[in-house]
Amino acid sequence: CGIVAGVSGRDIVPVLVQGLQRLEYRGYDSCGVAVHAGGLKRARSTSRVAELVQQVQKEQIASGTAIAHTRWATHGAPAVHNAHPHFSHGVTPDGAGHVALVHNGIIENHDELRAELQAKGYVFESQTDTEVIAHLIDSLYDGDVFVALQGAVAQLHGAFALAVFHKDEPHRVVGARAGSPLILGVGSVDGVVGGEHFIASDAMALAGVTDQIVYLEEGDLVDLQLGRYWVTNAQGRAYEAAERPVKTVL
Ligand code: GLU
Repeated sequence: CGIVAGVSGRDIVPVLVQGLQRLEYRGYDSCGVAVHAGGLKRARSTSRVAELVQQVQKEQIASGTAIAHTRWATHGAPAVHNAHPHFSHGVTPDGAGHVALVHNGIIENHDELRAELQAKGYVFESQTDTEVIAHLIDSLYDGDVFVALQGAVAQLHGAFALAVFHKDEPHRVVGARAGSPLILGVGSVDGVVGGEHFIASDAMALAGVTDQIVYLEEGDLVDLQLGRYWVTNAQGRAYEAAERPVKTVL
């Protein structure tokens, strides 16, 4: 239903949960946030975003690399284990999360992908269509989460907006837009434009944080790193930018 994610040098969890609160009016059945803090950490709730805020404070979930989500269930009952962010722990689980992912939309070919991934040894912990994407990215990962996302997107049928990060790339969040809305927000830190970057399903989620918005096009992929971003179309290579204007929203 709603996505807010970003990469910054400061703790952005408060910004992301506030963004979720701005999207609450759309309705949702659960919510969650995941951060890169040494390893992957997450908090999820089937209650209000306000309850998630309490969990985040209690468990000291803070980071400059974070993704957050409000869910409107399409596949899998509203429950904490089905709430996003979803993790992939890889095929030889060492207890550590490898990939963290949030998704808006529906993956039509999730059954085929799940069967293929299970045959490779992936263990599923939810009934969502979304979890296949986390394992698919893990299965394609070879040191560059953007390249893995691009490979995964090529195998997905359906509608999706995605935000993803990987344990081996602590200051990077990548995203994709196909059939579900996603925008990019260019933030300022200490007056420096581009000091931090966000992606969100609606510019409204970033109100008060930035009014500098890049409207992504269908099929676009985004790569957020500390102080830098790239927007690439589906055929583009990592670090190769497609021209997308930055607009000031009122
Ligand atoms: N299809 C996904 C799920 O059921 C995402 C739903 C959404 O857009 O919130 O978990």
